[in-house]
Amino acid sequence: MSRVLVALGGNAIQRAHDRGTWVEAVRQMRRTAPALVDVVRLGHELIVTHGNGPQVGNLLREAELGAPEIPVPPMHVLGAESEGQVGYLIALELGAELRRQHVPRLVTTIISQTEVSPRDPAFRHPSKPVGRFYSASEARQLRARHGWVMRNDPSRGGWRRLVPSPQPLRWVEGPAVRRMFDAGLGAHFVPVVTGGGGIPVVRGRDGRYHGVDAVIDKDRTAALVATQLGADTLAIVTDVPAAALGYGGSHPAWLGEVTPRQLAGYLARGEFGEGSMAPKVESGLSFLRHGGERFIITSIPSLSSALAGRAGTRARRATR
Ligand code: ADP
Ligand code: MG
Repeated sequence: MSRVLVALGGNAIQRAHDRGTWVEAVRQMRRTAPALVDVVRLGHELIVTHGNGPQVGNLLREAELGAPEIPVPPMHVLGAESEGQVGYLIALELGAELRRQHVPRLVTTIISQTEVSPRDPAFRHPSKPVGRFYSASEARQLRARHGWVMRNDPSRGGWRRLVPSPQPLRWVEGPAVRRMFDAGLGAHFVPVVTGGGGIPVVRGRDGRYHGVDAVIDKDRTAALVATQLGADTLAIVTDVPAAALGYGGSHPAWLGEVTPRQLAGYLARGEFGEGSMAPKVESGLSFLRHGGERFIITSIPSLSSALAGRAGTRARRATR
């Protein structure tokens, strides 16, 4: 039985033109679930991770609007809320599809913490925009009141809050989940882990973890999770069927089977979008360097053909 980590992109939960209602999310996850059940039916152990951008954005906005009455929780708490929310969504719909197909596995969400270094340079250079756009005067107020770092992006609608995006070092709950799987429990459970990259925590001198206001790239955490669990396959599922060369041009060349070396070359050449496809490819390469067997980039409809080697962009560990 091989161990597969599927990392779901935002579009598995919310499509670009959706308003972000619960009904839309349920409908979209209902479309996603059969492809995940296929992975199980192919005989694999399955672990799922996912993004949380739109969900955490909404929670931030809610907190802001509720501020006169209800204390605003720190951002890492909103990260925990979004893990619960999306985990519940996946449990509902994937759980229903597993039962419908008589596959006896339980979807269990693990509210996950991801350790980052307090000395990560990202803390000195917040770079990841979160939440809505603000006017210049609102931006001034927020900077003064909460010490937020704000950046103006006039072409897109104004000022936005920037938070650090540090490197994930360690998935805190990983070793326990690894033991669970190594004991054979992967035949009974589908864990949903490190949603939104996991809640960023730093380890204090007292040995305790403390949440920090930051966001971790979910694809980077996915590579770490796959490595920590000793997964054979990392499948990053997004809204395009594969990675391409000349993407955005008139003749994109979709990549099928490639070597890690080729991928690294394309990455260095700037073929993959900064903040979208590049982190996926970087994560895949990192997974393969750390002992992973196989890395796939594909879309939900192509997932099972990609696992069978017939679709998606696929790379295997370099053999000497
Ligand atoms: P997710 O929510 O799944 O992480 P992203 O938007 O971050 O989705 O990344 C997927 C997007 O990457 C695609 O929709 C596509 O627009 C973009 N992209 C950038 N470069 C490439 C490329 N070379 N090949 C394919 N897609 C690319
Ligand atoms: Mg992304």
